[in-house]
Amino acid sequence: MKLTQILAIAVASLALAAGGIAAEKKYKAGGCCDKAAKAGEKCEHPCCVKAEAEGKVCAKCNK
Ligand SMILES: [Zn+2]
Ligand SMILES: [Zn+2]
Repeated sequence: MKLTQILAIAVASLALAAGGIAAEKKYKAGGCCDKAAKAGEKCEHPCCVKAEAEGKVCAKCNK
């Protein structure tokens, strides 16, 4: 394996790890979406589902 390939993989995995942390932080701790995410599910509140579909988090439940 070439050094450039190793570097590319290292950068990609770091980006994935950072993305995972950011995804968990976007929910308010103890909130409905946070609890659902920790259970490996998605929050089923209509307001949260709508926000999720837009690539956001529900502002009402995660402030
Ligand atoms: Zn929610
Ligand atoms: Zn909501």
